[in-house]
Amino acid sequence: MQIMKAHTLGSYGCCAACHMWWGRLAPYPCVQVEWAARVVSRGMTERFLTAVGER
Ligand SMILES: [Zn+2]
Repeated sequence: MQIMKAHTLGSYGCCAACHMWWGRLAPYPCVQVEWAARVVSRGMTERFLTAVGER
């Protein structure tokens, strides 16, 4: 996922992408990464349930 690749641990223990894009020193993992992780995990769960239901 693009967001998770961009938002990596930068200097000072803050998110590199947030610092670069918004000049903000957001503590890592930042809100963007947490949001992306939630979306990814939810998608995986849905795929898993679909696969189980098809069997
Ligand atoms: Zn970030």
